[in-house]
Amino acid sequence: MLKVEHLSVGYDDLQVVWDVSFEVPAGALVAIIGSNGAGKTTTLRAVMNLLPLMGGAITFKDEPIVGTPTHQIVERGLVMIPESRATFASLSVADNLHLGAYTKWARAEKKSAMEGVYEIFPRLAERRTQLAGTLSGGERQMLAIGKALMARPEMLVLDEPSLGLAPMIVEDTFDEIRRIRERGVSVLMVEQHVEMTLELVDYAYVLELGQIVTEGSSRDLMTDSRVREAYLSF
Ligand code: ATP
Repeated sequence: MLKVEHLSVGYDDLQVVWDVSFEVPAGALVAIIGSNGAGKTTTLRAVMNLLPLMGGAITFKDEPIVGTPTHQIVERGLVMIPESRATFASLSVADNLHLGAYTKWARAEKKSAMEGVYEIFPRLAERRTQLAGTLSGGERQMLAIGKALMARPEMLVLDEPSLGLAPMIVEDTFDEIRRIRERGVSVLMVEQHVEMTLELVDYAYVLELGQIVTEGSSRDLMTDSRVREAYLSF
């Protein structure tokens, strides 16, 4: 569904991602894992055309998207949740969700989309009139994901969904991601929590210093000596 080939990207003259290739098949749950500063966020920003490419090709549903304005990429069904979570603190939960439904056909189906989000996140339904700024970190992550789902994505791109969350809340968040995938939405996520991520996803790419150093099914990576030494505690 999403195919990235030989991606090179950076900031002005500073290249931080070299020749990175990966793909996310329809219905799959795929991660790019790696430590702080490896270039994970930069890669996602390039996919969403929030950064110009230095080289490479990106297709979504077999159509090239390099140079496509980000709002059009979203219209085509590829929606990103940034690390910052991008919710509006001074608006209620419900109003944040309404704002998520800005694509043409999401607007037409706003009511059922909202019901779907409240079904996945009953906590948001309970807090629908509460201001987003007063939510806990975990609830704000739910709201960010819910808001992205309001755009009716075919693929969600999540930038470090675990960031700043307590371990138990991370587990809840990962369960929610699992449920979203079960509803037919493909997921690409980047994460530093390698162990938990490998338990969640089907397939992962390991990014180090801007390059993919290895890739494989979660099961294979969990037994890969290099991955175990660098990222796993068992
Ligand atoms: P993190 O978990 O810290 O977000 P990451 O793997 O997502 O790590 P990136 O944020 O993509 O890494 O950063 C990769 C490299 O690019 C780092 O060396 C970082 O300092 C650099 N970088 C990131 N943003 C900018 C920017 N706006 N201008 C210049 N350099 C940047």
